Parts: sequence; C-alpha cells; structure tokens
Amino acid sequence: MYYPMFYFDPTYILIVIGVVICLLASMKVKRTFTKYSTVRSASGLTGRDAAEQILHGAGIYDVRIEHVRGNLTDHYDPRAKVLRLSDATYHSQSVAAIGVAAHECGHAIQHATNYAPLTIRGAIVPIANFGSAIAWPLILIGLLFNSQSSALFLNLGILAFSAAVLFQIITLPVEFNASGRAIRILRGTGLLRKEEVDSAKKVLSAAALTYVAGALSSILQLLRILILTGGRRND
Ligand SMILES: [Zn+2]
Repeated sequence: MYYPMFYFDPTYILIVIGVVICLLASMKVKRTFTKYSTVRSASGLTGRDAAEQILHGAGIYDVRIEHVRGNLTDHYDPRAKVLRLSDATYHSQSVAAIGVAAHECGHAIQHATNYAPLTIRGAIVPIANFGSAIAWPLILIGLLFNSQSSALFLNLGILAFSAAVLFQIITLPVEFNASGRAIRILRGTGLLRKEEVDSAKKVLSAAALTYVAGALSSILQLLRILILTGGRRND
C-alpha cells in the first residue's frame, strides 16, 4: 500500500520556512510603516493630495482617487483606473502615507505608459488564479490513483502551480519599478524633503520585501511538489 503524504512528510519543512519568511516580512513592513506614519511631512500634504499632485504632474487626469477601508490595502486598479488609498494613507499627512501614495501612483504611471511587466502580469492573472485552484486537485489525483495517467495528472498539476509561481515572480519587477518611480518623483518634485525621502524609501523597501517573501515561499512550495511527486512523474 502506498501512502503519499499522510505519514511524516519531511518536505513540509519547506512550507514552514515559507510561512516564517512571509510572517517576518509582514512584521517588518508593519513596524516600518507604523514608525513613519507618526512622522508628519513638512509639506503637510495628505496621501490623497500627494497622489493627485503626482498624477497630474505625470499628465494623468483620468485616474480617480478613492478611499478604501483596511490596513495596508492601498492599491491601483488598472481595470477601473482607480487608485485606492487606505485609512492610514488617504487622510494622513505622514511621510509613510505620502510614500505609499507615490508608490500607487507609480503603478498608475506604469499603466499609462504601457510598462511591459505590468501588462504581462495583467495577462497572467486569470491563468494564475485558475492554475492555483486546480493544481492541488490534479496533484492529489495523480498521487492517490495508481494508474497509467497518474504521471499526466502530476505534470499538469505542476504546470498549473508554475503559473501561480510565475505570477509571483513577474510581480517583483512591477513592484520594484513602482517604488523606484515613487522615490524619483518624491525627490524630483520636492513633495518630500531629502531626509523624508529616505524615510519613505525605508517604508517602500520593507513593502517590497513582502513580495520577495511571497515569491520565495511559492518557489519553495513548487520545490516541495517536485520532491513529493519526483518518483511518480516518470512512472
Ligand atoms: Zn505596488
């Protein structure tokens, strides 16, 4: 009788490592954001004001700025062309708020200028969602049933999971580029003073770390699947 993974599974350590990395990154971003959200910027602009100035400065007038509930829920929605800023950003005059607002504007500018990684990421979203939904069912079918088509199910499951991993990886240049743009704009326009830009940079670097952690943990999950299915894929 073959028990694929209900007994002690040492590859589970890869999942644990991924979870720990993500937790640490999320703690780091929360701590950094909290620290600089108490530092009021000299300009006295709110996150919303800063976003509006940056968008207009980039010649973008067709992106709405809205308020969204939640903690660190700020995002740019390319389909609706809406930039949503959270409680801690929209009304806040802090250096952290202006940094985050500028980062989201970075995404709006990527969209307006057809920045290729953003376009590719947008195209991958449905495939990645579908892939992560069907990956494990396919893999389990492949592992549990010992038949001629086991290897086929396993390989399809791995392919599906890889689509989700690819999405996480293509997210990295998109996020790093948005932060790079944000810092250049904040520095260039004088929306923040020099030492304030350094603080905003710390917030955005911490945020970028969460995306790196997410990508790493999904790569570790893929690695685990490859190990778990190794001997059976070539049956
Ligand atoms: Zn972003």
